[in-house]
Amino acid sequence: MNVKKMAIVCVACGADTFIRREPVYEGFRKTGERLFCVSCGHEYAAEADVPYKTAAKPQVFTDADRSQRVDLFQGDEKGRNCRHCRHYVVNPFVQRCSLHRIEVQATDMCDDFSAASEAKEEASEKDDPLAKLLRRG
Ligand SMILES: [Zn+2]
Repeated sequence: MNVKKMAIVCVACGADTFIRREPVYEGFRKTGERLFCVSCGHEYAAEADVPYKTAAKPQVFTDADRSQRVDLFQGDEKGRNCRHCRHYVVNPFVQRCSLHRIEVQATDMCDDFSAASEAKEEASEKDDPLAKLLRRG
């Protein structure tokens, strides 16, 4: 399955070539892999050091999609999962989105995500969250 990401441009010989993987065994247990340039035999210490050709990576997403996805996760590691959303309502039988009035999973992601913790802070007695929203817009 890794065939597609095996194309590299070797840092040692500059060749447009491939990576060769050699499994490392400790007894009968596979403990890792050694990575070599097919052309010159240069060994890469770690997977992260291998100069894979980006164009050869599986193109499931276009570049535009990819940067968008990166943005989604940036700075908000907790993510935009329904579980952390103020609209998320959970009861013993079903998890619901109170905004879209649909059944959701805790791990669902949503464009209308609104962080629950933040919302609670904003909703202190003196601050009506709706008023705050309106002021923002
Ligand atoms: Zn090489």
